[in-house]
Amino acid sequence: MPWAALSKGHRTMDNLSEKIESYQRVFAEVDLNAVMDNMRNMKAHIAPDTKMIGVIKTDGYGHGCVPIAHCLEELDFMFGYAVATAEEAHILILAGIQKPILILGYTYPYSYELLAEEEIRPAVFRSDSLKELADAAKRVGKRLKVHIKVDTGMGRIGIAPNEEGLAFVKELMELEWLEVEGIFTHFAKADETDKTAAREQLRTFRRFIERVEELGLRIPIKHCSNSAGILELPDANMDVVRAGITLYGLMPSDEVSTDAVDLRPVLSLYSHIVYVKTLHAGQSVSYGGTFTAAKDMRIATIPVGYGDGYPRSLSNRGYVLIHGKKAPILGRVCMDQFMVDVSGIPAAKEGSKVTLLGYDGKEHISAELLGGLSGRFNYELVCDFGKRIPRVFVRDGSVVAVKDYNEDYQIHI
Ligand SMILES: *Cc1c(COP(=O)(O)O)cnc(C)c1O
Repeated sequence: MPWAALSKGHRTMDNLSEKIESYQRVFAEVDLNAVMDNMRNMKAHIAPDTKMIGVIKTDGYGHGCVPIAHCLEELDFMFGYAVATAEEAHILILAGIQKPILILGYTYPYSYELLAEEEIRPAVFRSDSLKELADAAKRVGKRLKVHIKVDTGMGRIGIAPNEEGLAFVKELMELEWLEVEGIFTHFAKADETDKTAAREQLRTFRRFIERVEELGLRIPIKHCSNSAGILELPDANMDVVRAGITLYGLMPSDEVSTDAVDLRPVLSLYSHIVYVKTLHAGQSVSYGGTFTAAKDMRIATIPVGYGDGYPRSLSNRGYVLIHGKKAPILGRVCMDQFMVDVSGIPAAKEGSKVTLLGYDGKEHISAELLGGLSGRFNYELVCDFGKRIPRVFVRDGSVVAVKDYNEDYQIHI
């Protein structure tokens, strides 16, 4: 059975082509070869014995976590995956993912037994959760592996790297049903040119680990680097690094150099023109009539909108690519449709392919560019591509899976 069929909502091969026919309105193409190449290129850039975690929270930053994890399973330098919630971890387990899964955020008590049953690793940092976690592990009859989260400067979650934090570790060491597999921290400013703050966090983390080890605790997996750290902080490699945004071929910030590692974007977003007409001089377009034609123009309607996560702030600012040329957005982006100027693209007609994100000939619209034009962060832009957009996964030139969110919004723990 192809792995594409392993998860609910992932179609089998037989009815795939028929299904893709119905994705003319909009679809995201997810290039799994790019995922693999990005990961291998990052691996080549870090220490030989450092393993990698693929960060696939928010359904793989909006790309679709299951097929991505299935591919990454093949790479022997992968330690495992990181997600934000127990539900996200459970989806991966249901899909047959074997390597360890770490939950980066706080995990609620209702899912503690599930963690133990499925060997999902929670981040631990609240002492009130330790006893409950240990009790759940005991009830299930399996020791639960945990990763201690240390706050070295992010100010979000994590134990303090001081006496209080050490007291937490001692408490943890008392609980025989819990096993400390890892300890980690997270950089607040690794994506800035000035690495002073990140290096200070790294020093704090190292000093704290030393003190923990003085208690007699040996922790096999220490980790701190995110994407920016992977690219620019070789000292921070440790046992594992956590690759998020770079796994999708996107950049952590515009201060991070694109030279160090060869990365290419994984996601492209396509649609097709549904209507072409003349907008006569003096006529306006879309809500509020914020664009009025000074002369006769040819305009095309694209059946995508902010209901798909295509930002409304691209109104009168963004553009799409049609037949390799830029077609500027005219007027406001609506919930389900928007209009573009195709006066300069005579070949544009109903049914023409539209590239909202990605390459068309020599032109390219990147998530960074679209983020910039819409006043949004590239991470946010891709995470917000909505559930009305099917994701089509391509590997070695063929479609290997489809994620259709209309079919599986019923996953529950
Ligand atoms: C999201 C996240 C990452 C990945 O960050 P990127 O900048 O996308 O690489 C790593 N670690 C933690 C704790 C995170 O929350």
